[in-house]
Amino acid sequence: MNFKTLALVIMFVVFLYGMLLRLIRYRSAGNPVPLNVVDVYDRDTYLKWRAYHAEKCRLGMLEHTANFLVDAALILFNAHALFAGLFAETPFMQMFAVLLLSGLSGVASLPFSYYNTMVIEEKYGFNRSTKKTFWLDQVKGFLVGLLLMVIIGSLLMLIHQALGDWLVVAFAAVMTLLALGITFLYPFFSKIFNKFTPLEEGELKDKLTGLLEKHGYTVRAIQVMDASRRSTKSNAYFTGFGKMKTIVLYDTLVQAMTPEEICAVFAHEMGHGLHKDTLKNQFLSFGQMLVLGLLSWLTLRTPGIFASFGFSQVNYGFAIILIMSVEFALIAPLFGLLSNWISRRAEYRADAQAVEEGYGDALISGLKKLARENFSELAPSPLLVKLEYSHPTLSQRITAIEKGKKP
Ligand SMILES: [Zn+2]
Repeated sequence: MNFKTLALVIMFVVFLYGMLLRLIRYRSAGNPVPLNVVDVYDRDTYLKWRAYHAEKCRLGMLEHTANFLVDAALILFNAHALFAGLFAETPFMQMFAVLLLSGLSGVASLPFSYYNTMVIEEKYGFNRSTKKTFWLDQVKGFLVGLLLMVIIGSLLMLIHQALGDWLVVAFAAVMTLLALGITFLYPFFSKIFNKFTPLEEGELKDKLTGLLEKHGYTVRAIQVMDASRRSTKSNAYFTGFGKMKTIVLYDTLVQAMTPEEICAVFAHEMGHGLHKDTLKNQFLSFGQMLVLGLLSWLTLRTPGIFASFGFSQVNYGFAIILIMSVEFALIAPLFGLLSNWISRRAEYRADAQAVEEGYGDALISGLKKLARENFSELAPSPLLVKLEYSHPTLSQRITAIEKGKKP
């Protein structure tokens, strides 16, 4: 079997696995709702949720299939090599060509994103995006994505040419630094998509600042993000390194929740900070980067691979596509299993922090409100939770919070 056939077989297996997960998700709508979350939706809303869930799942399956067909066709017909043939022969331009084609092939997803936002989300009353915002987002997303891929491709090329066999460790280290850099630059990136305004003075601001300062944090700013420009769904997070933090609240969250509930959500976020969960994640992602580095090294030292996809020489852009959508895609579920297990444990600990701050009840009502606002699933399949969920289910979290509240 040559490399191309092998790649297509792996892509098909990955496609089938993804389809199977989507089918399990589709069918889980019929699962009985646990008692401690039955009050999240009333009967009519729950029926509405089931219709919403079914529509989203069906669209997801169609999109998954379309993406697979496009990706497989590009591989089958050596499209990357043919397209790269239109560009200058330098290694950089050859890499750029392949990454550009891969970005452009994302067009296959466009009708589905459009239908998702403008038809489904609109129908259930969540969409606030205008057509203009939607298309601008797509263009900005495409450009940011392409820039990122070209940076990664250039780094791979430079490291491989300068360090040869040291590629594995060097690539992992550089990629981890890049990931850190992106986290650091995230506030700047998000300004491309949203506007931020400082939270007005008052009870909420004092409470949040007090909560964080009690644990030695310095609150640089509390910003409200105009998430309502796109969707009615809500969230909150904090950014910044070390003890200096910027809090970001979605305006939708500020509108929907009581100050007490917002503080509870924040005590949870602070729990992640106190347990150094992001740092632990960095270690895990370094392990993942080592595997990616190893795959890159193996791929780049086997020129026969490139020949079987129509290239006359090593192409760093194509190496990335092969590594991400074929080689790593095959083992990604194993990483998911491990990282999601670690993440779910961290979520329980962060919830426990909120309980310790005295926000147990507010956290329960806040989480229920978030679930309602975000139209969340109440009874996902336990198998999917193990494989794919970075958070325990709402019901599991409430059970743990209730337990933690008891002296
Ligand atoms: Zn969390």
